Amino acid sequence: MIKEIEVKSVLNKTKKRDAWFLDDYTFNPYQSCSYNCLYCYIRGSKYGTNLATSLSVKTNAIELLEKQLKKRAAKGEYGFIVLSSVTDPYINIEKEYMLTRKALEVILKYRFPVHMITKSTLIERDFDILQEINQQAILPEDLRQKLPDGTLITFSFSTVDDEIGSIFEPGAPKPSLRIETLQRTLQAGFHAGVSLMPLLPFITDTTAHLEKLFRAFQKCEAKYVMPATLTVFGNGKSDSKTLILNAIRNHYPELEARYLKYFSNSHQLPEYYRNAFYTKMKELSKTYNLKDRII
Ligand code: SF4
Repeated sequence: MIKEIEVKSVLNKTKKRDAWFLDDYTFNPYQSCSYNCLYCYIRGSKYGTNLATSLSVKTNAIELLEKQLKKRAAKGEYGFIVLSSVTDPYINIEKEYMLTRKALEVILKYRFPVHMITKSTLIERDFDILQEINQQAILPEDLRQKLPDGTLITFSFSTVDDEIGSIFEPGAPKPSLRIETLQRTLQAGFHAGVSLMPLLPFITDTTAHLEKLFRAFQKCEAKYVMPATLTVFGNGKSDSKTLILNAIRNHYPELEARYLKYFSNSHQLPEYYRNAFYTKMKELSKTYNLKDRII
């Protein structure tokens, strides 16, 4: 059942802009996420094992956003608003509630730049407003020389294989559809790229799969590809570590011993693995001529 809730604030100012996502603010119109990715970092007991069953709509989100942005604009505090940081802006109920679209209208009115991060194909519905934001947004002063665009669009992938996607991102649009949407987003003239967060050890970070990923994104002419390794947390039944280890046991039993070795007592891969991973990513960025950061 969808819960309707009222919140005190919807526009969160970040303490420090993240070098990857350039977020000065974050805006989340919904709580939890219908895409239900096993590796999602919002997991824990709060939303249960299936994130899609605990969705909430912030019914006063647009009214609050208007108030908060009006104040920020009056002070000239322009900065990128990330939609969204702890949900996807285009979860299944966005079709009905349209809070993301309404939020974009408010953002356009106050001329803030946006960074859309999504796994959805529904973003195409909002290309009209995103084009206007792209042209009219006022960028924070320190980014003006580095980035001419007021709209950034990042598509998130852990794989380009639909079958692997159905195991680890069971509620999300298929990766093959996401690639097509990325292609149309770039053809529409947006500054768009990819976050590979996370790549799955021994499954989608193998040389063969990485070649497949980078080739696909090079073909689309993505502006950037930002990779990261897997981190998992918790031992409760709804926690990402438990769910990932269960999926490995059920679908990749031959990898179970390796996953247990690395993740039983840690939330991340060992340092030597992470170093080798980032060296490999640098090489691939160079080979495929794809930037590994937005700026
Ligand atoms: S799309 Fe993002 S927010 Fe939604 S479940 Fe997946 S990782 Fe979490």
